[in-house]
Amino acid sequence: MAVVGASRRPGAIGRQVVANLIESGFEGPVYPVNARTAVVLSMPTYASVLDIPGPVDLAVLCVPATEVVAVARECGEKGVGGLVVITAGFKEIGGEGADREDELLAIARQYGMRIVGPNCMGVINTEEGVRLDASFAATRTPPGAVAMVSQSGALGEAILADATTAGLGVSMFASVGNRADVTAADLLEYWEHVDSVRVILLYVESLGNPAKFVEVARRVSRHKPILAVKSGRSAAGAAAAGSHTGSVAGADVAADTLFRQCGVLRVTSFRQMFALAAALLHQPVPRGGRIAVVTNAGGPGILATDALDAYGLEIVKLAPKTRTRLQRALPPEASLHNPVDLIASADADRYRKALRAVIRDPNVDALLVLFVSPIMIDAVQVAEAIVEAAVREAADDPAAAGKPLLVCLMGRQRGREALELLRDNGVPVFRYPEDAARTMRSLVARSRMLAREAVPLPKLRVRRNDAQRVLDAAPAGWLDGPSVETVLCAYGIPLARTRRVSDPGEAVAAAHALGYPVVLKAEAPKLVHKTELRAVVTGLRNGDEVYDAAEDLCRRLRKRFKGLTLLLQERAPGHRELLLGMTRDPRYGPLFAVGLGGTQVEVMRDVAFRIAPLDGADPAEMLGSLKGAPLLGAWRGDPPADVELAAEMLLRMQQLVADAPRIQEIEINPFILAAPGERSLAVDARIHLSEDAVEPQGGRS
Ligand code: ADP
Ligand code: MG
Repeated sequence: MAVVGASRRPGAIGRQVVANLIESGFEGPVYPVNARTAVVLSMPTYASVLDIPGPVDLAVLCVPATEVVAVARECGEKGVGGLVVITAGFKEIGGEGADREDELLAIARQYGMRIVGPNCMGVINTEEGVRLDASFAATRTPPGAVAMVSQSGALGEAILADATTAGLGVSMFASVGNRADVTAADLLEYWEHVDSVRVILLYVESLGNPAKFVEVARRVSRHKPILAVKSGRSAAGAAAAGSHTGSVAGADVAADTLFRQCGVLRVTSFRQMFALAAALLHQPVPRGGRIAVVTNAGGPGILATDALDAYGLEIVKLAPKTRTRLQRALPPEASLHNPVDLIASADADRYRKALRAVIRDPNVDALLVLFVSPIMIDAVQVAEAIVEAAVREAADDPAAAGKPLLVCLMGRQRGREALELLRDNGVPVFRYPEDAARTMRSLVARSRMLAREAVPLPKLRVRRNDAQRVLDAAPAGWLDGPSVETVLCAYGIPLARTRRVSDPGEAVAAAHALGYPVVLKAEAPKLVHKTELRAVVTGLRNGDEVYDAAEDLCRRLRKRFKGLTLLLQERAPGHRELLLGMTRDPRYGPLFAVGLGGTQVEVMRDVAFRIAPLDGADPAEMLGSLKGAPLLGAWRGDPPADVELAAEMLLRMQQLVADAPRIQEIEINPFILAAPGERSLAVDARIHLSEDAVEPQGGRS
């Protein structure tokens, strides 16, 4: 190990790194390098890495930014394996900093060295036989099963300290800084094969190369849980301004869905991240989302069930046999239903008996146990009972095994001791039911993720050339109405039959040709939301009604909107309106949206998102995840809507945007869904084209 820029000045990074290397018990030689200082921490220094007698695997650079490139070249000549560049003043400052980073990277490539950083806090590896702390972190991290990547150096330090406080040991840590070379995705690939790493934690601000990240994370997350705190906002919202899809998407939805799709559990705080990491390390992943709550106080029991319910988990009905067993063990005032209320007098023995019964219930996938310490009950004994009944005995009983147990400990009476006893036995302890419920939700999410299997895409017949011809000829901007229709039809997305005319007389003739009832709309390049201008008239029954309505539209709108066209449309027979949308996120690629549509979509905001590539099952899952999904089934005398067709429409859109990279945005709102076999139709669709093909920005993850 060489530390270039080693320093004797107290407080200097170059001194802290040398000190950390020594204190961490690194087994190999450490060579301080500094031409201006003879001795650092009692060790003689070398003027240059080239003067070091033995081989150097890793050099930590803490020299000024202007010297980094020259030092890196020397390292290359010396045959150093890799560099950790702590020095700041690179891409993050732009201008000359960016040039410097490019130069640094070129040297590394030339000599075959890998780089962590620049602008980072360093790397730590606590593994026996390595014990390397090549960072300037002030905390000593105990060894453990967690590996962490932090994009922020400053936060990295705080995360390490908090992880230690939360009782998590760290196997490896890397602060990747500007990610000139080594990225989060690289580390995931590495940790995939490191046995001591069992849970991976990420703090990321942006993903430079989402495609690589997705590919790696999707694979790794299947055998090692990956948790991420992601800050920073995606540009999706801004890019999509002017459409419903964009305005309901919110700023960060692309990153959110991207993580979910590759099995990364996204959390919103470090507290949550550590709690979940501990749960994943010590508890099994449940088979499903059916939860039992056991409590000794009614109020917290209700808080817990409310929170679980809000996270989409099921407060399961206990099996009759369980209730009989509980009845025998509990006083008559206790509640035998879920949440099982053991009431305030519950002592260790009552907890033990109740837990034995509940954990063996075949309907129960996971348990949340609450204990509010009353004066007369000993918390430590209760904790012991929990461990005995729900951990030790349960491990060997197939009816009880594989069911995670989380505990919520409220109240202070010997709480500290009880908490430690539980934690030492691998039981995650929370202070508030809400936090426990959230962790439970993530455990269940992981279980669902592991159970999911990708479904291949069906073969879709499209007329690619018909669409291409129209798109190639079209300028950037919103595609005109007839072209939108050609393109969508070519991809098998059915549109309501439409005629365009310019005056009320022609409108009547067109309406006759289409048949009644008919819908009349005004269309113009600048006219975006037609309903707001009363420019959509549905259910016109005859020529007179068409004529009057058309005349009214012309009178009100002709002056305000250049190029006003009257549009007559067959009336779609269905009742359920969907929004089908796609907006190309500049970083993450096509983002698909499906929601309960129509003119109220912004108010309802019931929209599900997913990033390309969608597999054969994604669209149906998106539809099923809507709050209003039941409205698509049989509803108030209506037969179920053709949900399968809606799902297929999303796959057809995916095909279209894959074939046509200039398409920046598609919005079909509404797609009016009818019963299977009936005419489901798009009645309002827009397509936005960019100047050139839009490929997601390359770069690093
Ligand atoms: P905009 O979104 O610009 O306000 P739309 O063309 O989407 O205008 O029409 C608004 C609403 O009118 C739709 O959500 C739908 O309820 C109804 N509508 C429009 N066209 C038709 C049609 N062809 N058949 C049945 N209903 C329609
Ligand atoms: Mg519309």
